[in-house]
This record gives sequence, structure tokens and C-alpha cells, in this order.
Amino acid sequence: MSKAVKKEVNWEGSPTSKGYSPGLAGFVWLMVLTALAILAAGFFFWYIPTRGLGNIHPALPYVFGAVVLVLGAFVLGGALLLALAARGGRITYYSPWLRWMLVKLFLPIMVLFGGVLKMPKIKIERAFIEINNQMVRLMKKKRGAMKPEKLLILMPHCIQFDDCAIKVTRNVKNCAGCGRCEIGELLTLANEFGITLYISTGGTSARRKVVEHRPDAVVAVACERDLTSGLQDSYPLPVIGVVNIRPQGYCLDTTVALKEVRQAILDLVA
Ligand code: SF4
Repeated sequence: MSKAVKKEVNWEGSPTSKGYSPGLAGFVWLMVLTALAILAAGFFFWYIPTRGLGNIHPALPYVFGAVVLVLGAFVLGGALLLALAARGGRITYYSPWLRWMLVKLFLPIMVLFGGVLKMPKIKIERAFIEINNQMVRLMKKKRGAMKPEKLLILMPHCIQFDDCAIKVTRNVKNCAGCGRCEIGELLTLANEFGITLYISTGGTSARRKVVEHRPDAVVAVACERDLTSGLQDSYPLPVIGVVNIRPQGYCLDTTVALKEVRQAILDLVA
């Protein structure tokens, strides 16, 4: 058994990096609450100027009300579809606009409400990553298998053994494969499929690599916070996020379950 797998089996987590289960039920309730809050805001948005609009033309309040109603139905419909799709912890329906609503509309407001309701942000992020991954897998089922050369595997620099003197962020092929971290095995995996593997020094370098490489899809490994912001920034690019393992806490000698990375690749190319 490799050092990485041993670490994973024995890993109990540091106080700051204890893993949460995705907890989709709480996420779905928060999403419905968010949709209702957006509806309430829409109502006030309609009601307050309505009196003024009536003075301009008697029909204007009704026109404006109809617009607010259509938008409200769109938001509530999206929340209900997402809730139904996530029923039982598994997404069964996908459409591009549903993913847009999840990533661009609901998530930022849910994080805000989650803070008010004292729901741990990491729990919301985990559930978001899980739902996003399921949507990307469904999307691939609709579109068909992707070419391995059009994929990109993104790893955070903290996955490299802290005392390793080799620079792998410029060229991962510099790795000597000594086995003290997962980079050697990840390189073997990437070569097996013919996929580009990139070790990023941070969000900016990861974004730059995506712009340069122009992949059809990405398999990204990082902590919940970085994955969530990366998924938002790279939207509409399909990204499967794999949460890293942090036996030493955040940003130091992190690891990843290689079988999860392999599965994410297979989900896109097979
Ligand atoms: S596997 Fe590669 S990157 Fe990791 S410690 Fe060994 S030489 Fe360095």
C-alpha cells in the first residue's frame, strides 16, 4: 500500500479540515428558502414603484407585475426543479440553465443565508460541488464522451511533498516519481489517458492554464473553498471537482484519493 493510501486510511483530519458529508437535504432546503426570499424581494420591487407607475399610465403596474411574476416563476421553478432533481441525493435531470441558476444565482445568495443561519460554509460548498459534479456527468451523457486531449487535470501546489526540491509547477514531467507525494502517480495516470496535468500555484495560474489550454472539461482537485470559487469563475466550462485530503490541515502536504480522480476522468471520457 502506498504512503498516500495509508495516509488516507488513517486520516482523522485536523480540527480545521474535518470533512463534512455533502448534506444535500440541508442544501436543498436552503435553496428553497433562497428562492422564496428572491420572490419576496421581487414582490416589494414590484409593489413599491407600482403606485408611481400608475401615475404614468394605468396599465404600467400590470405590465411590470407580469414581468415580476414571470421572473418569480422562473426562480421558483428552477429551485423546485433543482430540489426534485437532487431528491434522494442524486441529480436526475440536467439542463444548462439549471446549472446557470445553481452556480450564478442560488449559490451566492445561499452562502449569504447560510451565514445568517449559521450553517457551516464548507457544508454548502461540499453539497454544491457534489450537485455540480452530478450535473456535469449528466451533461456528458447527453453530449457524449470527450477526447482525453481536450481535458485538463488541475492540481494545487500543496499536493507536492513540502520538502521536495523539484520544480513541478513549470513542468510536471520534472517529477522524479519518488512516491513521497501523489504527483508521480498522477502523472502516470495522466499519461495513461493522454491528458495534460498541471500543478497550479494558485487560482490565477489555474485560470491562466485554462485560458491557454482551452479544454472541453476539467478535473480539478482542491479544498472546498477553492473548488467552489473555481467552478464559479470557470462557468460554463464543465468541471468535476474532487475535494482534497488534508492530514496536515490546509495548504500543506495535501493528498487526493487517486481512485476518485480516475473515476472523474472515466466519467468524462468513457
Ligand atoms: S513524487 Fe515527484 S513531486 Fe512528489 S516528492 Fe517525489 S519527486 Fe517531488
